Amino acid sequence: MSRLFNFSAGPAMLPEAVLSKAKQEMLDWHDSGMSVMEMSHRGKEFMSIAAKAEADLRTLMSIPDNYKVLFLQGGASSQFAMVPMNLAVTKKSADYFYTGAWSKKAIAEAKRYCDVNVVWSGEEGNFSATPDTSGYTLNPNAAYVHYTPNETIGGVEFPFIPDAGDVPLVADMSSTILSRPIDVSRFGVIYAGAQKNIGPAGLTVVIIREDLIAETQDGTPSMFQYSTHANNDSMYNTPPTYGMYLAGLVFERLLRNGGLDAMAEINKRKAAKLYSAIDESGFYANPVEVRSRSWMNVPFTLADAELDAVFLKEAIEKNLVTLKGHRSVGGMRASIYNAMPEAGVDTLIEFMQTFEAKYA
Ligand SMILES: *Cc1c(COP(=O)(O)O)cnc(C)c1O
Repeated sequence: MSRLFNFSAGPAMLPEAVLSKAKQEMLDWHDSGMSVMEMSHRGKEFMSIAAKAEADLRTLMSIPDNYKVLFLQGGASSQFAMVPMNLAVTKKSADYFYTGAWSKKAIAEAKRYCDVNVVWSGEEGNFSATPDTSGYTLNPNAAYVHYTPNETIGGVEFPFIPDAGDVPLVADMSSTILSRPIDVSRFGVIYAGAQKNIGPAGLTVVIIREDLIAETQDGTPSMFQYSTHANNDSMYNTPPTYGMYLAGLVFERLLRNGGLDAMAEINKRKAAKLYSAIDESGFYANPVEVRSRSWMNVPFTLADAELDAVFLKEAIEKNLVTLKGHRSVGGMRASIYNAMPEAGVDTLIEFMQTFEAKYA
């Protein structure tokens, strides 16, 4: 069996070294006589796995001491509700950037729990851009400011961190976390579903400044209160233990390979060569303004959409899979997260060039 280059937007590829290690440890983790899946989440073995995963993530992202790291379930989609339930308590209005499909969902959900003030919308430009660094006005009395640093479906990424002043900045980093270093202290809350750039689906990582863990809106279920999880080290109920273990292996490997600076270099290079290949061809096109192009999700169209099916079929023959664009966008999308080897991007580019020569 040979491993495929899987360009899925999520669940996405995991590093082969991580999967191999998990395979080795599958039946018997560190002479415990148990699989990680069989361990009590409160036993000393799993407690050590959880503690190391958190410590490694803290080191990787340089997370300041006044932030909690929570390992939750429910996906980024649960955070769409959990954020307003926990943060829009005394103040009832929140600012949202509307940059694509995921911020749309975040906004729709937040409207159930607070007043949403859309401070910038990319709708008119068909979601192919982000605001200018000063092209929006925030409400200084907002409960928080929410944005989606990387819109996974549109392939649109903020080239800057919005300046929210004293208002807590909340970021849905599902498809960009760990792709490069970021200054965590700029944020109130960072959340991410794991299945893009961290580990398997089923784990959600939340990084939250401690002073934001407080009273919640009336009626908020215990499981939707950050305090419940923060006060119990993410062990209020059974956490997604195997996902935490795999995420821990990913963190450990990133640290061993030079951390997020090294990862950023590789990601930047992978994205740059793919965008160059698209721009230099007369056959492929990417609709996103250059400054807002995503390092992680690269949508592109063929000059003739009639060739889409042929492209996908011939790509599979080269072990290049899941390149079909999101149904709402069409065309192709290559998701090139951390775990996509550079050789996968090189193989894709080579294939695109051969395909163009053959059909254009
Ligand atoms: C995938 C994704 C989501 C949804 O994540 P779930 O874990 O499936 O809820 C939300 N936001 C962004 C930016 C995503 O890429």
